[in-house]
Amino acid sequence: MIDVQNIFKTFYVPHEVQALHNVSYHVNPGEVVVVIGPSGSGKSTFLRCLNRLEYADEGQILIDGVDILAPKTDINKIRMEVGMVFQSFNLFPHLSVLENVTIGQTSVRKRNKAESVESAMKLLNKVGIHDKAHVHPAQLSGGQQQRVAIARALAMDPKVMLFDEPTSALDPEMIGEVLDVMKTLATEGMTMVVVTHEMGFAREVADHVVFMDEGKVIEVGPPEHFFTSPEHDRTKLFLSQIL
Ligand code: ATP
Ligand code: MG
Repeated sequence: MIDVQNIFKTFYVPHEVQALHNVSYHVNPGEVVVVIGPSGSGKSTFLRCLNRLEYADEGQILIDGVDILAPKTDINKIRMEVGMVFQSFNLFPHLSVLENVTIGQTSVRKRNKAESVESAMKLLNKVGIHDKAHVHPAQLSGGQQQRVAIARALAMDPKVMLFDEPTSALDPEMIGEVLDVMKTLATEGMTMVVVTHEMGFAREVADHVVFMDEGKVIEVGPPEHFFTSPEHDRTKLFLSQIL
């Protein structure tokens, strides 16, 4: 489903940083991959390359067989197929919850209004906030806003969902409600790549855990192996600091 081969990404401003150094990774359909690693290790850059929010300098990225780095590949198509949820919700503040979930469907997916509203209401129901369809994001809690953001991404019928620290900006009591929605998606077979500090989620839901450091994939393993018998010293050190 996702095939990343030897990608590199360097930023030059404000100073030169090699954010990704020869990263290769393969995600099968329906797999949940959790990416962990220290701050600045390239986790967000890796995710952002998967929907071309960042353009990798070198290497190849195939999503469901489509070469997303090919200049002729339609960027809107990539963004439809690869949904993304950010730490900071990023809802449209001037639109209602319902409009947040329909706007991409009508403008990008070219669905008619009635169809878009119907699918939006189904998704809002799924994430547990259909009763808030007509309020504006500012009237929602952080956990509710993040669930709307998930519904909005799902409304495009993506093949893959990327989550970049989706619960890091939330008060502790709201983390569970967002993780529960993500667990449901995982159970339904969505292919997901998740950057998170929630190690309980990683243990319970991930098929594979990826540890990154200094722009490289250092170690990959199923959670039961990864957390109990990591092989690399850097992984051991990191786990000893966070667990
Ligand atoms: P965190 O856990 O803090 O979110 P991360 O693992 O997501 O960190 P990235 O955000 O991918 O790390 O950053 C990797 C490196 O690339 C860092 O050194 C960062 O400063 C740099 N970097 C990331 N994005 C940019 C950018 N748009 N411009 C310049 N440098 C960037
Ligand atoms: Mg990050």
